[in-house]
Amino acid sequence: MSLLGMTRAELAEALRAIDVPERELRMRGAQLWQWIYGHGLKSFDGMLNVAKPLRTRLAETYSLARPSIVSEQVSIDGTRKWLIRLDDLGSGLDLQRQQKAAEVEVVYIPESDRGTLCVSSQVGCTLTCTFCHTGTQKLVRNLTSREIVAQLVVARDRLGDFPGLTPPTDGLVPPPGTRAVSNIVFMGMGEPLYNLDAVRDAVATMSDGDGLSLSRRRITVSTSGVVPQIETLGNDVGTMLAISLHAVRDDLRNELVPLNKKYPIEMLLEACRTYPGASNARRITFEYVMLKGVNDSPRDARELVRLLKGIPAKINLIPFNPWPGTRYECSDWSTIETFSDIVFNAGYASPVRTPRGRDILAACGQLKSETEKLRARARLMLDGTADPAVDAD
Ligand code: SAH
Ligand code: SF4
Repeated sequence: MSLLGMTRAELAEALRAIDVPERELRMRGAQLWQWIYGHGLKSFDGMLNVAKPLRTRLAETYSLARPSIVSEQVSIDGTRKWLIRLDDLGSGLDLQRQQKAAEVEVVYIPESDRGTLCVSSQVGCTLTCTFCHTGTQKLVRNLTSREIVAQLVVARDRLGDFPGLTPPTDGLVPPPGTRAVSNIVFMGMGEPLYNLDAVRDAVATMSDGDGLSLSRRRITVSTSGVVPQIETLGNDVGTMLAISLHAVRDDLRNELVPLNKKYPIEMLLEACRTYPGASNARRITFEYVMLKGVNDSPRDARELVRLLKGIPAKINLIPFNPWPGTRYECSDWSTIETFSDIVFNAGYASPVRTPRGRDILAACGQLKSETEKLRARARLMLDGTADPAVDAD
């Protein structure tokens, strides 16, 4: 079993299981923690301050194996997308049952002043937002906190973002001396607030100052509006909050984000008004996907501004990323501009999110499935066999 992704408590448990004496657990745990998360070691050999016999014992029972990278694609704009297989961690001590093998995609978006990693919290999603491809996938399971942390470690491995590693030579690389991954967004597959315990533990590990050291202010959790969990996210996890709003009227939001029938707009905004820690310096992001003729009129823009009054907010206009079979189209650029001007004039800066990695289909809501199709197509070409489940998609 791999120790990768374990929380401090899980690591202590793993050491106890190989008879490390109780009085040494803290010290040994702290040593391992630094090697695993601070240095990104992949084997126990290099753990110089850990006595040789213990290193041998560790290696007999455990590994520091990563989930395997099934494929990597690099966009002309430097965006990278990895498909990673999550059955390689072994059954964790936190798990009574072996988790089903799963593949998730992780996307890295380099910008001049930051590098953002988009991680998944679930395989698939139980919600069925009509514009989102993830919502159409059948297989759904929660990721464990270890599997969430592993997404960050795999990305840092590949980006040379641990001491002693070299960054890749293709694509855009962050300037020397800066961290390749400086920000995390939970905007991959799944609804993070339906897997909040795992997200909480993963964030604790990612933000731990002795290891991966990503400030909670640089971690954003996006939700489609699971109102009862929003306060818990603020209190227990302490990350930044993003809300997938997408509509300003309940009738339309009921259609786009069906969860709205349970937690309508006013209820959602009330939870935002009282989000622990929100302030002008720590604004809540409101995501708004631009759907042609659906939610993109100047009237919608004015209503959006009115609704958000009094909430410390940022607005992110997202050009819709079409996927095969969708009934929606992305708004015209001029419509997006008009919408964005209204929002800008109300005091919200640079609100349109530039589409990134479109050439490698690294867009939100269409993760994984496209790669599966491409692979099925490749298999078909290679040996004439196709995966019917994928083809039926
Ligand atoms: N389930 C969470 C987080 C994952 S989705 C949520 O819904 O917030 C991350 C963001 O991508 C959400 O704002 C979602 O609405 C948006 N999104 C989904 N499909 C999209 C698509 N096809 N085009 C553009 N944005 C999309
Ligand atoms: Fe799930 Fe978010 Fe997609 Fe809705 S937008 S189906 S909540 S992943």
